[in-house]
Amino acid sequence: MDENKVTAEVLSEENNEEKEVVSRNFIEVEIDKDLAEGVYDTVHTRFPPEPNGYLHIGHAKSILLNYGLAKKYGGKFNMRFDDTNPTKEKVEFVNSQLEDIKWLGADWEDRLFFASDYFPQMYEAAVKLIKKGKAYVSDLSADEIREYRGTLTEAGKEDPYAGRSIEENLALFEEMKSGVIEDGARVLRARIDMASPNMNMRDPVIYRVAHMTHHRTGDTWCIYPMYDFAHPIEDAIEGITHSICTLEFEDHRPLYDWVVRELEYPHPPRQIEFAKLYLNNVVTGKRYIKKLVEDGIADGWDDPRLVSVSALRRRGYTPEAIKMFVELCGVSKAQSVADMGMLEYCIREDLKLKRPRMMAILDPIKLVIDNYPEGQSEMLDAANNLENESLGSRQIPFGRELWIEREDFMEEPIKKYFRLFPGNEVRLMNAYFVTCTGCEKDENGNVTVVHCTYDPETKSGSGFNARKVKGTIHWVYAPTAKEVEVRLFENIIDEEKGVYDKETGEININPNSKKVITAYVEPALAEAKAYESFQFVRNGFFCVDYKDSKEGAPVFNRIVSLKSSFVLPKNN
Ligand code: ATP
Ligand code: MG
Repeated sequence: MDENKVTAEVLSEENNEEKEVVSRNFIEVEIDKDLAEGVYDTVHTRFPPEPNGYLHIGHAKSILLNYGLAKKYGGKFNMRFDDTNPTKEKVEFVNSQLEDIKWLGADWEDRLFFASDYFPQMYEAAVKLIKKGKAYVSDLSADEIREYRGTLTEAGKEDPYAGRSIEENLALFEEMKSGVIEDGARVLRARIDMASPNMNMRDPVIYRVAHMTHHRTGDTWCIYPMYDFAHPIEDAIEGITHSICTLEFEDHRPLYDWVVRELEYPHPPRQIEFAKLYLNNVVTGKRYIKKLVEDGIADGWDDPRLVSVSALRRRGYTPEAIKMFVELCGVSKAQSVADMGMLEYCIREDLKLKRPRMMAILDPIKLVIDNYPEGQSEMLDAANNLENESLGSRQIPFGRELWIEREDFMEEPIKKYFRLFPGNEVRLMNAYFVTCTGCEKDENGNVTVVHCTYDPETKSGSGFNARKVKGTIHWVYAPTAKEVEVRLFENIIDEEKGVYDKETGEININPNSKKVITAYVEPALAEAKAYESFQFVRNGFFCVDYKDSKEGAPVFNRIVSLKSSFVLPKNN
């Protein structure tokens, strides 16, 4: 699964029988080397999102990786908004991203930063480059710059404005800043190498004129730094040691190194790239999630069918499950695609001992116990989680009329069917043995009521063991059952077709990704609060929707069913 994991088997000195397996990913190997060689004496990482959308599962990987490294090496972790491009950035996104990062458990303590706070230093850095003869003002248009840049096989051409004197460049850059220059009329370019085989090094634009209001600095600036210039400066100012980013920035690393070198930072940060996390048949990119929201296919950024962090939280995923998933995926330079089944495995693992197992009927049919006295009922004791006694037990009402799952009765049983059919005895979970005696049907032949008789000697917990039954079914006492809305989800993407249509590029939508049903649940579940989650016996894990639930009327989202096809690989 993670080819780049380095496994070192360390034999303990006192006891050579005990083996400690130390597993490091390739970034940790690099960090160890840097520390050993004295390149850095500490580890300082950061998470630098652009506040232009909601964070998703891929960002979660980056957050947990950066935070985890700082923790592991006793270093520091900065939270920094990379807000240098005012066009798409909004305060709404700043707030949602902070909430998500906090929820994931990455603690930035008092180190919350905004790149826009460094605009004065970035401006000074540009001036420094001009003074060193390493940057010049160009009047070429964006199209001309592209033309002059050349191609992968052809060197670029010298910018006709590259010969301007330092004084002239300083004056023209000052003019750009003063507001008299129109958007796009002039740019500041780094002077590197128009013939470089790396296109990013062909005198990249580092400052542009843009008369835009910034969400934090307002109209103070009308020139804004480009990402490749701004990012290394942000890292250097904050004392970041390892600037961890994704593979698409690998070709930009020479420029990153050029910027920190030319600006003569005493402790230049180092960029290390890893492969992005992708999920099979899942839309992860901000741009595409945004499209699903704008097209009204998803109901908001936190639609439980999406994989934004807020959607996963709403669905009932836990930070622990996301962390487990990210760790299983590993950190690598090789591009790979994970399966949604693995994420689902993680949430099942996390919740199975933590949450009470309750009874809920999703597809109800009536069961009448004909020999149970009419007008009577009793309270039965039910363990909340047989595998975790610390969750205690609860009392549940029981009586003559129950709701059971429609699939738990078959008038004519198929082979190996051990549930209710005429003449067969089964256990009612937490209650008694019952024997099926028959059923009632409507005019169309659909079963409407199942009949049975119970054996009062067989009460659960009474120690009865005179005979065994093969089937156990769950139920809810009908007179006190609560009707609740339950939502069952499938992938929002049509998995048969894949995410994108090959011809149109449109996203292939599964029209059946959300099914709304009415279920009967134990009365105690009516009091469940937003974000509380439960196992519904045999039906999966469910979480109370924070948006659509009302006091006493929870709406349940299915997080995941209990069945899994995912098998944890042996070496993990
Ligand atoms: P997207 O377009 O998918 O939303 P982005 O790279 O534009 O992603 P940024 O806000 O620029 O989003 O990213 C913040 C950090 O998260 C960056 O360091 C980026 O490399 C990292 N990141 C983004 N997507 C992923 C992913 N799928 N897997 C791992 N890290 C990611
Ligand atoms: Mg981006």
